[in-house]
Amino acid sequence: MAKAKTKARPRGKKYVYSFGGGKAEGRADMKELLGGKGANLAEMANLGIPVPAGFTITTEVCTYYYQHGRTYPPGLDKEVAAALEKVEKIMGAKFGDVENPLLVSVRSGARSSMPGMMETVLNVGLTSKTIPGLIARTRNERFVWDAYRRLIMMYADVVMEKAAGIEPEDGKGVRQELEHLMDATKKERGVTEDTALTTDDLKQLCEQFKAKVQEVLGKPFPDEPLAQLWGGIGAVFQSWNGKRAVAYRRIEKIPDDWGTAVNVQAMVFGNKGETSATGVGFTRDPATGRKIFYGEWLPNAQGEDVVAGIRTPLPVNEEGKTDHNRHLPSLETKMPDAYKQLNAVQRTLEKHYRDMLDIEFTIEEGRLWMLQCRVGKRNGVAAVKMAVDMCKEKLITKEEAVARVKPDALIQVLLPMVDPTAERGAKLLAKGLPAGPGGAHGMVVFTADEAARRGKELKEKVILVRNETSPEDVHGMHAAQAILTAKGGMTSHAALVARGWGKCCIVGCSALEIDTHNRTLRVAGKELKEGDWITLNGTAGAVYEGKLPLIDPDLEHNTEYLQLMKWVDQIRTMGVRTNADTPKDAARALQFGAEGIGLFRTEHMFYGEGSDQPLFLLRKMIASKTEEERRKALAELYPFMKEDIKKTLRVMAGKPVTIRLLDPPLHEFVPHEPARLQELAASLGIPMEELQKRAESLRESNPMMGHRGVRLGITYPEVSECQIRAILEATAELLTEGIKVLPEIMIPVTCTKTELDDQLVICKRVHDEVCAKFNLKKLPYLYGTMIEIPRAALTADKMAETAEFFSFGTNDLTQMGFGFSRDDIGGFVPDYLKKKILPDDPFQTIDQEGIGQLIDLGIQRGRKTRPQLKVGICGEHGGDPESVMFCHRVGMNYVSCSPFRVPIARLAAAHAALKEKSKKK
Ligand code: PEP
Ligand code: MG
Repeated sequence: MAKAKTKARPRGKKYVYSFGGGKAEGRADMKELLGGKGANLAEMANLGIPVPAGFTITTEVCTYYYQHGRTYPPGLDKEVAAALEKVEKIMGAKFGDVENPLLVSVRSGARSSMPGMMETVLNVGLTSKTIPGLIARTRNERFVWDAYRRLIMMYADVVMEKAAGIEPEDGKGVRQELEHLMDATKKERGVTEDTALTTDDLKQLCEQFKAKVQEVLGKPFPDEPLAQLWGGIGAVFQSWNGKRAVAYRRIEKIPDDWGTAVNVQAMVFGNKGETSATGVGFTRDPATGRKIFYGEWLPNAQGEDVVAGIRTPLPVNEEGKTDHNRHLPSLETKMPDAYKQLNAVQRTLEKHYRDMLDIEFTIEEGRLWMLQCRVGKRNGVAAVKMAVDMCKEKLITKEEAVARVKPDALIQVLLPMVDPTAERGAKLLAKGLPAGPGGAHGMVVFTADEAARRGKELKEKVILVRNETSPEDVHGMHAAQAILTAKGGMTSHAALVARGWGKCCIVGCSALEIDTHNRTLRVAGKELKEGDWITLNGTAGAVYEGKLPLIDPDLEHNTEYLQLMKWVDQIRTMGVRTNADTPKDAARALQFGAEGIGLFRTEHMFYGEGSDQPLFLLRKMIASKTEEERRKALAELYPFMKEDIKKTLRVMAGKPVTIRLLDPPLHEFVPHEPARLQELAASLGIPMEELQKRAESLRESNPMMGHRGVRLGITYPEVSECQIRAILEATAELLTEGIKVLPEIMIPVTCTKTELDDQLVICKRVHDEVCAKFNLKKLPYLYGTMIEIPRAALTADKMAETAEFFSFGTNDLTQMGFGFSRDDIGGFVPDYLKKKILPDDPFQTIDQEGIGQLIDLGIQRGRKTRPQLKVGICGEHGGDPESVMFCHRVGMNYVSCSPFRVPIARLAAAHAALKEKSKKK
């Protein structure tokens, strides 16, 4: 331990919390101080659940450690010694005692779980002096030497190498060196399993291990229990800033200053023979949400064996069996008494926590010990089902049910799946465990680096195929469409990580023969190479050859989803619209629950399917020189415009549709190909050179700040007139058919009230003309503006004198507020994020500190002039949960986002309403 300075310790500050023997100093709600693991161990102890005694060193010690040059607060050693004494009393053994030695584990435990990202050391306290005592007490020499060789391996790797900052070359770490020795012994003995090594083999191995440690690291393996203990504690704190942990925190947005706690706990052993076992479980199935106790176990094993995914585990009970493991023995049948007790414990825990829990247990010579419980990670599909079921079981309220589902997790309910008809005829390569639902297709890659390179950099679809994954692979797993492993169970690293991210994942697919070196995969008599396509059905655990089509899920029959969204809509107070420009998108958004269109970009009729003719006519209009030429082209374009708008208005009958006038700079539409230019020149009756001259004159240095949006309407009023007429005539025609339509005419890229006034004159004139033509008194429409230029936000009080509604265009507002070109951020924003100059990409999540002020102020000033001013958002941020919460807070009437994100925005809006309610209380 680093020597404590003599500085007085703040009075009342407690750094160590004990638990065990039916009571604890901590509680479940002390996660910030004790970390998740420590807080829950304390809670279990308080509930009278059998937990091996131990103590937790608080996260404050971790913070202190990093703030004080990696030293501990004064007095910590005394507190640890006192807590260790308590453990000794409860467990009836003494740390370092030659006759009856206590062994402990040293584990990390952050506030929010970071599976496998930090270090653990087990069997701490075994030394040349305590080994004989433990052998005498356990009468199991082989077990003791096996425990000792595990300790040397782990300790040398974690404490003496990693925590010491030594970074060996790939494959040259001390752990690998020790593994080579063990492999050599196994080879010599002609055995393949670790369990086949004899006591003498292990004894000899331990000696070889110690010599190797000295040789590789230049230091002896410590033979003093307290040195081992403090070495372990230091290594856990060090691992908070290890590469893996830091990378994981970036992805999960866990703050660096939270720190980890350290849990020191009496060891119990699941590897003491056939009456011992270890396992993990979930109080409900985390893949489907079904209300069954779901778990996996291994007889005669230590916890790592299950989590590391090296041995494929067995099902805990009969009801959790699947086709995949039906033939394997369950704990329920093999150790019925221990299972009964375990089942009772998991029930008690779920009732107490009122949530699905993930538990770890060990059975030592028939006696059950609980090692961990925490709220279990689940995929989105399971999250929805559990929330709705638990509400129906009266375990939680409907508000809690809604709050339990993270908006982003809903994506998984909306996930694509493998087209069942294509699947029926496809070549099944193998089956594995369905660890992450949904469907995915991609090209096979065998290393995480390759997955990251092709998936992230080249934007290719890849599937990462590994024997098993480890925390070193997370960057590649993140970049892949899906993950497929040959080994491991539902709680293996791959499964946990994929589930957390909602990624399609299949594990334990034992039929795969993976040759990472040659980058090939043999399965079902086939050899696949890197780059070959496969398809995964993560819901069924099926792997197919080739690229099968994916289809959207069947939401109409997902009763739990529908129920949850009903509650969501009862709770939220803010509206949710969609950004849609085609009848197809509009219809899809309606299915997702959109309450209108918040942005219909008229220019989209000039892209994609069926756009050839309107695009040609638009180009003709753009290339026109005189008003007369332009009016002629517009007259030809008019019927297309009207039809396009009318189709979408019809789909959205009864709901508001915000139609934005032409926004982009015109030169974007000018063709480049000579054939197209030729065609255009001919149609206009002008020579090519003249056309080229006209096209050239449209070129701008800063088109984003150039002749676009309302500026087009100011210079070419006939362009606005034509569009407004198309909107209002479409409205009149639909009204005459008896269809209720509510168009909202929106002027883009405005920065002064006078621009709005200028265009309003056109709007009013056209309105009167259309009314006269259709013999109507008045058409129901609103006239409003985008607020996407800072000046417009600042002068919102003036803008609202003319505008009846505002829609914040946060894409441009962010661009112009930051001065970051939205089309060029790829070059620098990644560095801003890496260096933490910005917390998030401001084009994805609203920058509340800066751009947020423009929005807040714009709304307040606008409503000062017009209290009933309707306000929404139609930038990309409208579908980002954090931004939606912000929009609620500043009093928007609605958010608008792409169809697919509508349910997510609805849920985020409900969360925002719940948050506001809880604040008011
Ligand atoms: C915006 O600027 O936020 C917006 C919605 O408009 P566009 O993305 O079309 O510029
Ligand atoms: Mg814009």
